[in-house]
Amino acid sequence: MSRYLSSRLSSLESYTPGEQPADNAEYIKLNTNESPYPPSPGVLAALGSGEVSRLNLYPNPDGAKLIAKLAETYDVKPENVIISNGSDELLAFAFLAFFESGVMFPDITYGFYPVYGNLYAIPYTEIPLKDDLTVTVNDYLGVNKNIVLANPNAPTGIALPLRDIEKIIKTNPDNLVLIDEAYVDFGAESAIPLTKKYDNLLVIHTYSKARSLAGARLSYAIASKPIIDDLKTIKYSFNPYNVNRLTQTAGLAALEDAGYYKEKQREIINTREYTSVQLRKLGFEVTDSKANFLFAKNPAIPGRELYLKLKENGILVRHWNKPRIEDYLRITIGTKEQMEALMKVMNETIRGEGV
Ligand SMILES: *Cc1c(COP(=O)(O)O)cnc(C)c1O
Repeated sequence: MSRYLSSRLSSLESYTPGEQPADNAEYIKLNTNESPYPPSPGVLAALGSGEVSRLNLYPNPDGAKLIAKLAETYDVKPENVIISNGSDELLAFAFLAFFESGVMFPDITYGFYPVYGNLYAIPYTEIPLKDDLTVTVNDYLGVNKNIVLANPNAPTGIALPLRDIEKIIKTNPDNLVLIDEAYVDFGAESAIPLTKKYDNLLVIHTYSKARSLAGARLSYAIASKPIIDDLKTIKYSFNPYNVNRLTQTAGLAALEDAGYYKEKQREIINTREYTSVQLRKLGFEVTDSKANFLFAKNPAIPGRELYLKLKENGILVRHWNKPRIEDYLRITIGTKEQMEALMKVMNETIRGEGV
């Protein structure tokens, strides 16, 4: 820490991203929920066209072309859409714009929510999940507080049905409800259609998980016009050119290749169900995930020990030293072959432990 750091920030605990090993080839990387599949052929072709030669020019700050296509895709108006440099940035904008009076979210959820709370000195309340790691919907009904929910939740993968999400939005009409749908394309119901009915709903999507573009940094939010306008005010007060030319081009081409992504999403769902069955056969407790990862623990071995065993064998997964979940691992769904390699090490480790 330098002598110049603002005292308000001296005890800030920053977000810890999943490990990104220098030599990716060394590991089967199942720790940051990336897609194991490359971007679609249309995306690669679009990036190979003329856009690179226009990098001397600033990108369109509004992302007008991409926004028009997103609006068409989700059957909303362009004025209801904003794009951003990854959903982490959109979350940062939303916390800054809307949550001065406080916000609530589950105790076990995406690790960035408390980080932004602390960064902006926003009072936040962490609402415990039930023992089975599901959200207690009643905890959020008519509470007159701003609310953030990841749906499906991370790292549990468990999704709330849309009717529960709607109850939460409807019973808190004077507060903003932010639904982070990073994983929605792997089997949950999107709340986007509800943005036409409720002016207090903000839905955030990312290209990082279901559209194979984590490295491009692209996300979008859909909400009523006044909410989107507020987010634009923050964006234009911070970094108007936050989505670069190549990323806007890739994002547009990805929407035009919807069939490719649907197929890959189906493959990931099938591989998830296969892996879940295999893990259960080995005595794992596995949550009912609707995301591109599984959250699992085995009563025969502590989470950290299993995490290290997998790492020794060239497989990276995510583990948190955090109460209630320290025995769980979050395992990204890779290709079928990668999951077979995972199960081989799991078999050796668990059977070798004398279960
Ligand atoms: C991965 C993830 C994000 C961040 O996505 P980016 O668009 O890559 O910044 C946001 N929310 C949740 C719940 C996530 O899992």
